[in-house]
Amino acid sequence: MDRRRLIAGNWKMNKTPEQTEAFLDSFLRLRAEEGSSEILLLPPFTGLERAGRLLADTSIGLGAQNVHFEQAGAFTGEISAAMLLSCGCRYVLVGHSERRTLFLEDDRLINRKLRAAFSAGLSPVLCVGETLEEHRLNRVKERITSQLAAGLRDVDNTGISSVVIAYEPIWAIGTGETAGPEQAEETIGVIRGWIADTYGEREAAAVRILYGGSVNPDNTTSLIAQANIDGVLVGGASLDPDSFARIVVAADTHRGV
Ligand code: PEP
Repeated sequence: MDRRRLIAGNWKMNKTPEQTEAFLDSFLRLRAEEGSSEILLLPPFTGLERAGRLLADTSIGLGAQNVHFEQAGAFTGEISAAMLLSCGCRYVLVGHSERRTLFLEDDRLINRKLRAAFSAGLSPVLCVGETLEEHRLNRVKERITSQLAAGLRDVDNTGISSVVIAYEPIWAIGTGETAGPEQAEETIGVIRGWIADTYGEREAAAVRILYGGSVNPDNTTSLIAQANIDGVLVGGASLDPDSFARIVVAADTHRGV
């Protein structure tokens, strides 16, 4: 099955609306012609409305970095799926390791967010990944499959078709270390195998699975060349329009397999 590559830029807590506009100004000029990859930008909440307006006539997708599981109500500081949709979002991150570790989000909360997102019509990008210790102790498969089982609890075959999965080893996020293409491919193969066992071969062949963790313009090609890696989730290197455009160009080139 042909899965369209997805190149996503997670800006984390960076860029004001003005800086968002400046980025898009440059990036849209660098990316004047559409390529084969789908591009997704994930600015902080305050940049969403402006980005949504500036991207409205482009093929570049917009997503948010977080969502609350309830539709509305007394949840100070939170944001609903409907609010994100009204800014033009089509995707939302759930379970990013920074949310898990710094904001103590557990698998149960992540599952509620994920189900709220796709019920509202947003595609969740579910992030999973092991710590350095789990990596060293050879517990990658165990950790990843338990995060998948908990994060996708009560998600049926219709639901899974709207989910994107991002494998992000925690030790590779923002550290300059990457898992290495073969290692990333092996774990992403485990994820696809788990989807096949749980939902079926057809669903496993259709679901997009990204790699994230210190992706940059120089290592994108070797990651994308792996059969199971359908794109990349980029943090730091997505903040600069030139570097993000170079990552997209690298992903647009043939997978080489
Ligand atoms: C991320 O934030 O999801 C990420 C992978 O960050 P970085 O590319 O900076 O490691």
